[in-house]
Amino acid sequence: MHSKRDPIVEALCRILPGDRVISGCERVAPFECDALPVYRERPRAVALVRSEAEVVAVARLCREWQVPLVSRGAGTGLSAGARPDAGGILLVTSPMDRILSIDPDAMTARVQPGVVNLQISRAAAAQNLFYAPDPSSQIACSIGGNVAENAGGVHCLKYGVTVQNVTGLRLVTIDGEVLTAGGDCPAQPGYDLLALVHGSEGGLGIVTEVTVRLTPQPSRTRMLMADFPTVRAAADAVSAIVRAGVIPAALEMMDALAIEATEKFCHPGYALDAAAILLIDLDGQPQEVAADMAVVEPVLARSGATRVQRAADAAQRELWWKGRKSAFPAVGRLSPDYYCIDGTVPRHRIGDVLEAIDRFAARYQLRVANVFHAGDGNLHPIIMFNGREVDAVDRVEHLAADILEYCIEVGGTITGEHGVGLEKIDQMAVQFSDAEIAQFLAVKDALDPDRLLNPGKLIPTLAHCQEYRMLRKSDG
Ligand SMILES: Cc1cc2nc3c(=O)[nH]c(=O)nc-3n(C[C@H](O)[C@H](O)[C@H](O)COP(=O)(O)OP(=O)(O)OC[C@H]3O[C@@H](n4cnc5c(N)ncnc54)[C@H](O)[C@@H]3O)c2cc1C
Repeated sequence: MHSKRDPIVEALCRILPGDRVISGCERVAPFECDALPVYRERPRAVALVRSEAEVVAVARLCREWQVPLVSRGAGTGLSAGARPDAGGILLVTSPMDRILSIDPDAMTARVQPGVVNLQISRAAAAQNLFYAPDPSSQIACSIGGNVAENAGGVHCLKYGVTVQNVTGLRLVTIDGEVLTAGGDCPAQPGYDLLALVHGSEGGLGIVTEVTVRLTPQPSRTRMLMADFPTVRAAADAVSAIVRAGVIPAALEMMDALAIEATEKFCHPGYALDAAAILLIDLDGQPQEVAADMAVVEPVLARSGATRVQRAADAAQRELWWKGRKSAFPAVGRLSPDYYCIDGTVPRHRIGDVLEAIDRFAARYQLRVANVFHAGDGNLHPIIMFNGREVDAVDRVEHLAADILEYCIEVGGTITGEHGVGLEKIDQMAVQFSDAEIAQFLAVKDALDPDRLLNPGKLIPTLAHCQEYRMLRKSDG
């Protein structure tokens, strides 16, 4: 049932069929959060859109009535980017889920924003092509959400993150204008709107179509797993591999706690006595893979690996990767609650940062498991806690802030791929100066002058920045 007296809901029902407008406290409840459920809010109404024309109409309605508009794809985001606004409309693009065309000669696919990431690779497999960026959530997350978060994944070290794998897109502004960005040629004149939209977290417009670059499937992939006696040795091996001139297709690291959790969860065959392991994919032409193996194995040995194994066959490789991809739910079994954060540091500082995380965790009496995209320096510390303990959430928040701000201190950033959303809005004040934040706000105002698109997320106000900096100062 719709609350008929709400004029916004009534106006929405004139744009969309009634069964695609959801209103009423109970009915909108399934949409109240993304995959970071500590941030919840029920929207005034949910609009399930099926076409660009419908997106245009909803955007115009929001502009006319001055109502916030929050876009949502699959809702797998980890920074509360798709958390609705209480007075606003949640525009859900997941019903726009058609692959419009695949062009094997141009090696591109044109898709609607609600298409699930993995579906693109499945559809392109017949042409021996795949879509390279592979977030661990790829069975569920949408390509529109990937663009908005500039998503990464296990294989992005070699193949690039979303922005390097999208050649064009269509964007609906809050005025209902349709903009196209990018094209078939590698470079376009004018400002790079295509890059600007990547990572804009639904704050500049609604992505209604994406043209992605497809990559030829490698003819061979070999996997290595190396055990290390210390986290520092494993971290240093990561830099040594890249310094030796090899860019693995994947270069992931797990520490002892993550290994223990994963072994208990799905028995991938990881070494329980290792302080850390590296999981490495090498792919390409057979000669290229053999040459890379000949470089990487001795580098691992020289870096102090106690054991280096090659996956015997595709089944073993799949099992080793299954462990890595199950690490989050596995850690969830070791602790009543967990919170995964996301920061990036220069690769050669990984060891320093992991040691600092241990020190910070001890300060707050918390345990942290680490499983992450080591090749990219993209850390995912998973803080384990019991939310029923009185000050647990407070300690977790302080620990997360300390870790992210340490990432900045060593030359890194507060997010590698999960975005800022609401979660890291405070740390934007540490990462950027007032002058830089003012420029971000100027860009937003150029496309969204009334700040109706995803308000309160990604870019803090200058007042918010000043308040947070004072608070941290008083924390000492
Ligand atoms: C278990 C798990 C593992 C994960 N692993 C990874 C990983 O390896 N790498 C990684 O990068 N991320 C990962 N994520 C995070 C998440 O899956 C990604 O951020 C993903 O890109 C979000 O896509 P979505 O469709 O779910 O977007 P949503 O969560 O629905 O939205 C995310 C943001 O995008 C905006 N948005 C959504 N659709 C549109 C649109 N059409 N136009 C404009 N803005 C839009 C929203 O407003 C919001 O700000 C993981 C999440 C989970 C739960």
